[in-house]
Amino acid sequence: MSTEKPSDKLDRIVAQAHRARDEREKGYRERALKMYPWICGRCSREFTRENLQELTVHHRNHDHDFNPADGSNWELLCIYCHDNEHSRLIDSGYGETAIDAQKTDVTHNPFANLGAMLKGKKS
Ligand SMILES: [Zn+2]
Ligand SMILES: [Zn+2]
Repeated sequence: MSTEKPSDKLDRIVAQAHRARDEREKGYRERALKMYPWICGRCSREFTRENLQELTVHHRNHDHDFNPADGSNWELLCIYCHDNEHSRLIDSGYGETAIDAQKTDVTHNPFANLGAMLKGKKS
């Protein structure tokens, strides 16, 4: 007999996914911290055990699943420089996103036939 609700099952799946992601991130973070000096690659701020949580691992190719053993895809950045790094890329990619949104509008516009429908009613 099972008293498990579907939402409990979903919660568990989500929790498992989070745990797997956390473990994976912890794995490469620890490896990167062992491999590189605790210094931000952008602003050269130095870190100690006390503030180490503000030092993050950036993936140079932005693929968090690409973690070669030689650490060539990792760069240690403080949380501020890491934020900058990503917002810079989001900014430069904004044009593409806008074009994609336009395309989507044209193909999935729910009002595309509205003009024709209104015309049809009037005549
Ligand atoms: Zn920094
Ligand atoms: Zn990053």
